Parts: sequence; structure tokens; C-alpha cells
Amino acid sequence: MTQIKKARSGMITPEMKIVAEKEQVAPEWLRDQIAKGRIVIPANVRHSRLSPVGIGEGLFIKVNANIGTSSDHAIFEEELEKLRVSIEAGADAVMDLSTAGDIDACLGAILEESTIPVGTVPVYQAVVETVEEKGALIDLTADKLFDVIERQAEKGVDFITVHCGLTRAALEMLKGQGRITDIVSRGGAFLTTWMLHHDRENPLYENYDRLLAIARKYDLTLSLGDGLRPGCIADATDRAQIHELMTLGHLTRQAWDQDVQVMIEGPGHVPLNEIETNMIIQKKLCQGAPFYVLGPLVTDIAAGYDHVACAIGGALAGAAGADFLCYVTPAEHLCLPNVEDVREGVVVTKIAAHAADIAKGNRVAIERDRQMALARKNLDWEAQMKLVIAPTKARKYREQNPPAEDDVCTMCGKYCAIKQVKEYFKD
Ligand code: SF4
Repeated sequence: MTQIKKARSGMITPEMKIVAEKEQVAPEWLRDQIAKGRIVIPANVRHSRLSPVGIGEGLFIKVNANIGTSSDHAIFEEELEKLRVSIEAGADAVMDLSTAGDIDACLGAILEESTIPVGTVPVYQAVVETVEEKGALIDLTADKLFDVIERQAEKGVDFITVHCGLTRAALEMLKGQGRITDIVSRGGAFLTTWMLHHDRENPLYENYDRLLAIARKYDLTLSLGDGLRPGCIADATDRAQIHELMTLGHLTRQAWDQDVQVMIEGPGHVPLNEIETNMIIQKKLCQGAPFYVLGPLVTDIAAGYDHVACAIGGALAGAAGADFLCYVTPAEHLCLPNVEDVREGVVVTKIAAHAADIAKGNRVAIERDRQMALARKNLDWEAQMKLVIAPTKARKYREQNPPAEDDVCTMCGKYCAIKQVKEYFKD
């Protein structure tokens, strides 16, 4: 039985208890939100080391880190190190997006080690294997795609991106739209190529019940992907994007009817002034299902600093209703990120998520900042290091430039403003 099915039958599962404790919410309230589909706990019954995480309305905003090999850089150990660094830096989930090397072995090792939910995009592996076996991605079959989905589910993957809303009708919208960047989703591009070559409907849409049956068996959460997400500011919030989202809303209802947990993926590149509108449209069209945004990046010209462009968009998206932020690293649009890029991406996205939690009135998040303010006022540096999002970096800065007097810092030195007025504001 899936978490949503158990919630609907009134059960509070061990996973729900753990999530309720982490979030400091009542287990009964959590169960009711899961039953309504507003919160998911991606927890494949086969992922043995998992410490369950909840995603959705009323919980802390979560952060995902993408890891995985590429055809130009496939070092298995490096991806495992990225997993470790992601967890250490505070990621709530990882996605293994491997497209080279021994994909099965890499995913198996990640699942064995990961205590946080693991997601994948199965069409990647299905296409890579098809190209290796038959020579071209157009030789992909629906059976091959579903075999890979089942294989990954059997291994213990907790959530999968499936671009089920990328239909022929959505492609017609895209063709008529006159976009600049057309399709920037890798999975979306694979499926579009296949659909146009064969003049066929998307197999994930056509065989949605087959997908739901696999998801139900393993309690695999579906992350309904946005294959037509905008790849530049000029393409944001157009007919193709919204058409796909409307289909995802319809598929959300079907998944809930079959007791399958589901979340929705969203853009992409979106200007600041359109982010709130995007969040409202998604929540309305998908009936409150958790929203997982890939950014959004608020400008196209921040290469080298795209993690900052992403954090700006992520903070606003989170404050306006997004529940799950996919990180972007400084390497975005340039190359596969290295281990330090991954760390930087997670930390910056955690800051965005926390800022949004405060804006949404999360009392635990607000209290953490209040404690930080008190620690700063008290010049209590140890307490400050315990409260910051990235203590290692904070400590490094303090240690590399130590003050003459221990209780201040070298910014103002003996003219420390806090220290000066402290005596006069004792209470
Ligand atoms: S020295 Fe300046 S920056 Fe440092 S703690 Fe005091 S007031 Fe703050």
C-alpha cells in the first residue's frame, strides 16, 4: 500500500511519524494532507536506508541536488562523492541523472548509500541503452521504457520524472508559438524526437495506467515533468508550457484515483514578475499537488553565477507556493558540475528555501533566525556557527582573519558597534 492509500484509510505510518517529528507538525494533520495529495513522502518500499522526507504545503521547502555521469565525464566515484557532499550541505533529495558508464551500478550504489530520497529520469537510461543496443534513440520502444522504469523502481528509486504531459497536442502548441529555445529538457527532447519520427503519441501518456501500476507497487512517487519548460526568459509562461501543465493537472487526478503519490515539475527560466503567477496557475490547475521547480532562473545572462539567478527565483517561487526547489550550480549551462559546484549549489538553494520559509510564516524557520539575532547580539560565536546554513565556510572566514579581541570580528575590530552599545541596552 502506498502512503496516500494508507493515509486515506486513516493510518499514520512510521514514515509519517518521522516526517511529522522532523517538521514539528501533528501526525494527524500530516496524514490528512497526504490523503488529499497536498503532501508526498517519496519512500519506495525497497529503499532500506531512507530517512523519509515530506514535500508539500505547510512543510519546510525542500532542496534537490542533481548528480550523475555524462557521456563526456563519467567517473563513478565522483558522483558518490557528490552524493555525500549534497547530504552534508543539507540537500533533502538527490536525482541521479547518469547517462554514461554503468548506469545500473551507479544508481545501485547511490541508493545503497543515500539516506535521502533518490529520484531519476528513467527515459535517460532507456535511451542510452537503446542507442548502445540498436544504434539510435528512435529505436526506443514503450516496452523498453517501462522495463527501465520497473528496473529502477525495483532497485528502490523514490521518485521519477516522467514527461507524461508532453503530448502531440502540446507539440502543436509549441510549433505555433514561435519560441526561441523550443525544448531545453533532455527528456522532453528525447520524447519529442521519438514522437515526431514515428508520428506517434507519447508512450508515457498513452500507457499512463501501466505507469501507475508500477508506481503503486513500489510506492514510487511520480514527478510529472515539464518537457516544455521555458529555456529562456522570452519563452516563459507561453501556450506550450501551460498546455502541458493543464494535462499534468488531469493526470494528477488520475494518479490520486489510483492511490499514487504525485508532484508536478515547473519552470525553468521565468522573469521575476511572472513567478508568482506561475505558482498560482500550477496550484490551481493541479489541485494543490506539491510543486517542484527547476530554478526558476530569473535572467539568462548569469552563466558562472546561475546558482544566484536560481536562488533569487527560488526564494520568490517558494514564498509564492513552490514546495521543492531543484538546485542550480555555478556550472549550469557550461559543464557538468564538480564536487565543489554541487556544495555551492545546495547551500545557495537552501538559503533561498529558508528565506521563503520565513516569508511563509514557518515558525521553526523564524525562530532559528531569532536565535541567530540573539547570538549576534551576545557576540556568541559558537552559537552563531551552530545556527548558520553553511558552518564550515563561516568558520573558515572567521579563522582566516582572527580579531585582536576574541568577542568581536575584524570588520569593525575595537569599534564593534554591538559591543559599544551593549552596556547601555542590557535588557
Ligand atoms: S565587529 Fe562589527 S561586524 Fe563584527 S560583530 Fe561587531 S558590529 Fe558586527
